[in-house]
Amino acid sequence: MHDPFAFGDQFGPAQVIHVQIPKLGLKGVLVVDNVAAGPSIGGLRMATDVSAEECFRLARAMTLKNAAAGLPHGGGKSVLMGDPRMPIAQKEQWIRGFAAALGDNQHYIFGPDMGTNEQCMAWVKDEIGRSVGLPREVGGIPLDDIGATGFGLARATEIACGRIGLDLKGARVAIQGYGAVGRHSARFLAERGAVIVAASDSRGTIMDAKGLDLAALNAIKAAGKSVAEAKGASRGSVDDILDVACDIWIPAARPDVVRADNVDRLKTRLVVQGANIPITVEAERFLAERGVLVIPDFIANAGGVICAAMEYIGASQSAALAAIDEKISRNVEEVLFNAEKNKVLPREAAHSLAIARVKRAMETRRWGIV
Ligand code: NAD
Repeated sequence: MHDPFAFGDQFGPAQVIHVQIPKLGLKGVLVVDNVAAGPSIGGLRMATDVSAEECFRLARAMTLKNAAAGLPHGGGKSVLMGDPRMPIAQKEQWIRGFAAALGDNQHYIFGPDMGTNEQCMAWVKDEIGRSVGLPREVGGIPLDDIGATGFGLARATEIACGRIGLDLKGARVAIQGYGAVGRHSARFLAERGAVIVAASDSRGTIMDAKGLDLAALNAIKAAGKSVAEAKGASRGSVDDILDVACDIWIPAARPDVVRADNVDRLKTRLVVQGANIPITVEAERFLAERGVLVIPDFIANAGGVICAAMEYIGASQSAALAAIDEKISRNVEEVLFNAEKNKVLPREAAHSLAIARVKRAMETRRWGIV
């Protein structure tokens, strides 16, 4: 970002801070986008090819995501330009150094992202007393272990089913990406009576119209194997998950997996997005025209960030789950109501909802975005 003002608009960024520590060979950037609703929460990404521009785009996405989730937090993001697989002692120095350099900036709360984890957040907390996504031993709520995002996704699915007259009990569900989000979504949906008829990972797909044995799948994944190695069901390639006849299709793997060139393969009534931007805008529009309801990512997968915000105020795990339940239910209801009323896609309704909340928060502040 040669001109740090190039991306500025009415919503931010409020601050762009470049950090350099020559002794460590460290370079990093913090973008505080908009803190009208409260101090920003956003992940620290560590990768060799991250730029200030990417940091800004991710910070803006957090402003909208946190507003859409109804959290008292703005959006920010930080990046460290380095290999996250560097020796652990060096990584600790980098993360501690970066945190110390930004420690006085009360506008930003560090969270984990690509290349960083709970351990890194514990170093940040030790250094500056402020981070989320911590290990349980220092007050964290391990959101991937408890399935915070999958729990919220199941709740979003329940509300959406009510909207289209689909009985979740007995509904057939296919899950792309049986990882932290996919596995817990499967569990919470099965608990509500849904039948998980297919699941995939980066190595293949497993299908069974009578319902997969989730305990067996979890054991296989825990042993480091692929779901496609599960016994007693039919197997397919990674892409075969797209063709599974189902009522609910859940992408929980990678961005842009459903595009204009393959969207016609989906045979479902409802898509609930666990992954971030799994479906291109064009494909989302095509699905809407075919009468398939799509619940957008930043509404459906907000369970993780809601959990992190609850952790920040020292809430218990059960209080965090209650907050996820309440916020996601209300948001899905509101987004679907507005989408229908204004005849727009749920994604557009969700975006408008987030922007309206950011604007209202800005009106309460003397300086607008800070
Ligand atoms: P994860 O690494 O635990 O799981 C990802 C799974 O997807 C793995 O099983 C992997 O094998 C599988 N996968 C990879 N490529 C695939 C492909 N082409 N086809 C099918 N499966 C494939 O990651 P996660 O934490 O579950 O995150 C999944 C997605 O959800 C990401 O897009 C992430 O950004 C998003 N997300 C995660 C959270 C969270 O709380 N973890 C919150 C919001 C959004």
